[in-house]
Parts: sequence; structure tokens; C-alpha cells
Amino acid sequence: MPDKVPPKEDKLAAVRQIADAAWASLRGSLAEGETPENLAMLDKAYSIALEAHGTTPRKSGDPYITHPIAVTEILHEFGLDAPALAAALLHDVAEDTDFTISDIRKTFSKEIADLVNGVTKLSKVQLSTQEEQQAENIRKMLIAMSADIRVILIKLADRLHNMRTLQYKSEDSQLRIARETLDIYAPIAHRLGVRWVKEELEDLSLRFMDPHAYEEVRQSMEAISGERREFLAETQQKILECVRPLCPDAEVGGRIKSVHGIYRKMFLQNKSFGEIFDVFAVRILVNTKEECYNALGLIHESFTAIPGRLKDYISMPKPNGYQSLHTVVLVRKSGADGIPFEVQIRTKTMHQMAEYGVAAHWKYKLQYTGKSALDQQLDWLRKLVDSQKEGEEPEDLVQTLKSDFVPEEVYVFTPKGDIINMPQGATVIDFAYAIHSGVGERMIGAKVDGRIVPLETELKTGEIVSIMTSAPPGKGPSRDWLALAKTSSARAKIRAWFKREMREENVQRGREELERELHRNRISFADEDYPEVLQSAAKRHRFENIEDFYAAIGYGGVSVHRMLSYFKEESGKLQQKREEPKDALEITDTKKLTRSKEGVIVEGLDDVLVKFAHCCSPIPGDPIIGFITRGHGVSIHTKGCTNASAERRAEEPGRWLSAYWDTAANERFEVSLLIEYHDRIGILADVSTLCTNMHIPISDFSSRHAKDGLHSFTLSVVVNGAEQFERLHSRIREIKGIVTIARFQA
Ligand code: MN
Repeated sequence: MPDKVPPKEDKLAAVRQIADAAWASLRGSLAEGETPENLAMLDKAYSIALEAHGTTPRKSGDPYITHPIAVTEILHEFGLDAPALAAALLHDVAEDTDFTISDIRKTFSKEIADLVNGVTKLSKVQLSTQEEQQAENIRKMLIAMSADIRVILIKLADRLHNMRTLQYKSEDSQLRIARETLDIYAPIAHRLGVRWVKEELEDLSLRFMDPHAYEEVRQSMEAISGERREFLAETQQKILECVRPLCPDAEVGGRIKSVHGIYRKMFLQNKSFGEIFDVFAVRILVNTKEECYNALGLIHESFTAIPGRLKDYISMPKPNGYQSLHTVVLVRKSGADGIPFEVQIRTKTMHQMAEYGVAAHWKYKLQYTGKSALDQQLDWLRKLVDSQKEGEEPEDLVQTLKSDFVPEEVYVFTPKGDIINMPQGATVIDFAYAIHSGVGERMIGAKVDGRIVPLETELKTGEIVSIMTSAPPGKGPSRDWLALAKTSSARAKIRAWFKREMREENVQRGREELERELHRNRISFADEDYPEVLQSAAKRHRFENIEDFYAAIGYGGVSVHRMLSYFKEESGKLQQKREEPKDALEITDTKKLTRSKEGVIVEGLDDVLVKFAHCCSPIPGDPIIGFITRGHGVSIHTKGCTNASAERRAEEPGRWLSAYWDTAANERFEVSLLIEYHDRIGILADVSTLCTNMHIPISDFSSRHAKDGLHSFTLSVVVNGAEQFERLHSRIREIKGIVTIARFQA
């Protein structure tokens, strides 16, 4: 009887045939960039891997060796160097075969052995997909990665190929691996800025976790008609032509949102496919940062920009280093309604970083100079790499991480895995204020690595810190926090709180005391007279404004009793003057100052609905006055507004109310400026950078046509008050080429 099982040699020969073909094809493209020595070394790695894995099959039935070859191919796409490619070929031998790490060291080099060792250890790291474990997982990954970023890139490529061949696994494994990929590997790819890997991992995960939704989205994308695609191509061309005058080398392209990205929007925001307008985006690639802003100006000149959709990730890169300008414009299609299009503008280098993240370092031989967020991230990793001594176990690395190898700085994690960078000696109080001053003010306790700790606890690198807070507004900081906080910014925020809160208390107390005394002594004023009486009383005591006056009463600096005769006298005078009975629109007997959500105090009204008039868009610090609208609450105008002129006020005196800014409120206000300038390359970038440096968000930025040789643009910014606005105004003035700046009235 002939043996039905082919002899081992025959099987091996069959494997070799398949493997050689796969290797030959990859080797062909490797040969273009690698030296003959490196190619010979990679040939050797391939032969050893082939030998070691032998006839072992994968679940797909393919010989096992096809997997390391595929992983190597992905890493070649990343542009990784020869040692990393050799390590990719050998990445599973140490774990699955008799060929050990020390064999790799002897046959190849310590570098390659360390890489394979890193990947092998990373596979053994226990990862949990529980949400609260996210920081712990990412921390483990970062620790492993810190040894050599190439280790994590090999691991990502390994996972990517495993995901591409996941259909051969059992359904249970599919779900588990897809979940783990979505929870851990995709976020790491995102953190490293390798966009396409992140998106492919997410899409593949979704395909196994929610096959129906995946198909639904994919089919909707395919169903987008040829007509719409044509329109897309036209739009790209139009936008390219529009930016050409200032960016002659601009390139245009499109970006299609990933299936998972659309899925997330559809299912989390409960939108239909048709409601997602950024399925397609137009992408403009230019040479320099200045060209980015010039292109933006030109695009806003030719198309209608949707307000509030401008995002400047160039001045403020995303944490993973992503840089780009995003805006949304309406593109009109032969008389039809405008269709919103996202336009992304960036330099070619920024684009390489956006696609490849840390891998761009190898792929494009980028030099990391400057101070991007990614640079800081890499700096951190480099420091970790330098600090790692030879032959350390991962457990030792945790210790290294936790010790103060970077004397001036510690890196701690939020529970979500964000890295917060703090000076040495910083405490949980500093951490809370670094997250947000609101978090600091509501802090009631803190946990480090899951354990409740005293607030004076100094943080160490690698710790996960979570702040326990009370419901807003919280009881605020305590005075001794000032001594416990190490960072000047936390201390400044604590001090500001005391000043603000105490002042608020004083103002409140003063206001109430004055009202109470007036009421008790039966001194009353008409609504419209009261503010002026107060103003002159304040002036008599040399106070700038009524708030200061109240505050002084509140802390006892000014005696109300001594002023009663003055108020009585004024009241009598006004009463005589007033021939007619008071306006029907008198609101309350006793004056009440009510704070509205908008940060404005309106005299005499409870729970008042406040709106800012569009004619003058007041910002805090502007002198203001309120007007009772018919059915829409009180609208607030600046005192200088033509709609609040003396004549207008005289027409309907009863409808005008005194109003003040509530200085304690932390509100944001939009102001628009019309700026004229002599054209100069980079001027728009200068303005944008200035806003960013001052932490003033830009909500709209559009250029206008040149007139009388002067160019102009409108700039809408969100400021926290008149003071910040004044500062911005004077800084813009200083920019070379700026001619006039006018507050823009819509
Ligand atoms: Mn593998």
C-alpha cells in the first residue's frame, strides 16, 4: 500500500515553493533601497525563518512563513530599516520554534535579537479590554515601546496582518481579537500618528464585531453615484485653481472617511448616512506653513465658509502631532443649494506625518526639529530609551519609569491614558489644576494607581492619577493648597479663586446691605434712575464702578448709614422732577440684581433671559445697558450702540434697565474685526499664530477683495472680555503691514 501522506521532504518542498515566490516578490522591491550586505542579511533571516517554521500551517492553510513575510512587507511600507525588517522575518521564531533569542544574537546582531525579544515579550503582556484598564494597557505598551519604537511598529504590523486574515479563526477568537484590536492596537496606532494603520485596524475590527453595520456603511459608500463623484472631482479642481495664485505648487487630493469613522458618527450621533457631510474631504498640499494660511484666505474669499468650523491644528497640533488647517465651505452646484465640504490644508511634510506618524521618521528620513507635540512625545520616548539599561526585564522597566530618570519632569497618566507632563515635585493638586481649573476647584480627593492618597502626594512618572470631584460648582480650594501646589500656574489659579470668590461675596453682601437699608428707610428710586444714583454715590466715594462700591460696603470699608441722607435727598429730588407717575413697566418694589447665565447682571429682574444684541455684540468690560424686548427677554447693548442712544432711551424709558458684567462668570464672547493690510506673505499666518499664542480661539477668518490697493480680511475670535480683546487689538497693531483694525458690526 502506498503511503497517502506525502513524505515530509515533499511537504517541505511545497512550502518552500510558495515561500520563495512570496519572498522573491518582496525582495524585488527591497533591492531598490537596501545595500547588498543588508540584502544578504535579509536573505539569511528569511532562510532561517523558513527553516524554523518548517511545514507548520496557519489557520488559513497557508504555510506559517507567509505571515512573517507579510509583516515584513507592511514594515517595508513604513520604510523601516534592515534590522527591523530582519526582526520582522524572525518575529515569531523565538516563541514558536527552537531558534532562540541567543541564536539570533549569535547569527545576526544584538540589535536584531533585542527587537525580536521586545516583540516576543510584548505578546506576553497581559492586556485587558476593560475600559478602566485602558491606561494600564497603554502604559504597558509605552513601556515596551520605549525600548525601541520599532518594536511597537513590528507589533502593529503583526496585528494588522493577523486582522487581515482573521476570517480563518473561530468566531469566538474573531470577536475577542477584534475587540482587543479596537480597544488597544487602534488607539496605539492613533497615538503614534500612523493614520492608515489605525483606520484599517478599526475597519477590520468593525467588520467582525458588527458585520451588518459594516456592510450597510460600505454599500452606502459604494452607492454614491457617478454624478456625485464627478462633482467631487470638479470641486477639487475649483479649489486647486482658487489657491494657485499664491501657492503655485499646490496639489489637490481627496480624503474618504473610513467605514468605522462613518459608523461611529452614524450610530453614536444617531445620524443617517446622508447627514454626514464629511464623508469626502478635499485636501490641499502646499509647500510652506505661510502657503497654508494664504490658501485658507483664498478659499474663504471664493467660497462661503461655515462659521465656527475653522480649526487650526497647525498652530495647535493634536496630541499625536497631527497638523493641518480644516475648514468647511459651501460649494454650489449649478444653481442648487451649496453642499458643505471639508477642506484640509497642510504642507507636504505635515501630510507625511499625518499618514505615517512616528514611522515618517524612517520613511521620509524626517528630521525632528522644532517643537511639535509629536516631537515632545518622541523626546519622551528617547529619554526612556536612553534610560533603559541593557538586559532589563519589563518589570525593571516599570521601576525605571517610576524612578526619576528625568530629573526635572515627571509624566503621569489620566485614567483615559492621556499623558500629563509635570515638573518634578508636582502634587495631585498641580495635576488637578493642570487638567482644568474647574477640576481643581471641585477636587475632593485623588487616587494614584487606584489608591486614595493625600493631596500633598508627589507624583512619579508612570502613575495613573484620577481626581475625585464633587458636583459643580464645588466648595473650592482650601487656603493650605497654596503651600502644597508646586506649579506656579496651580498657585495662580488658587489665588485667583480666592480673590474672585471673596470679591463676589463682598459685592453680594454690599449690594444686599444697601438694598436692605434703603428699603427699611423707605427710600425708593425709579428703575431707570437707580443706576445713575448709584453711580454718583460711587463716584462720591471715589470708586471706579458700582461693583467696587458694593464690594467696599460688603467688607465694611464704606458705611451705608452715613450715606442714607444722601440717598434720601436724591430720592426726593427725583420724585419732584417726575411729573408723571412711574412707567407701567416697573418690575419690582425692591431692586434685585439677578445674575443670568450669560454673565450679565440685570437690575430688577429675576431669572431674566439675556441676549446680546447683534448690532453691537457687547463683550465683558464694555459699558452696557439692557432693553426689555417684547417676549424675548432682555437684550444687552453697549452704551455706545446707536440702538441705545439717548434719544432711543428717552422714547421708552421704562424698557431700559441698568446692566453690569458679572465679573465672576467665566464667559467667552465672539468679536469680529475687519482688518486692512498691505499684502505681504505670511501676514495671515502671523495673525493666526498671535491668536494661538494668546490662547484665543479663532472662529472665522476670511479674506476679502482688495480695495484701493489695500487688502482686508475679517477675523472672528472668542475672547473672555474687553481686557483680553484690548491686548489682542494692540498686538495685531504691531504686526508689520497692518493698516487699520475695526470692530466689525454684523
Ligand atoms: Mn506574528
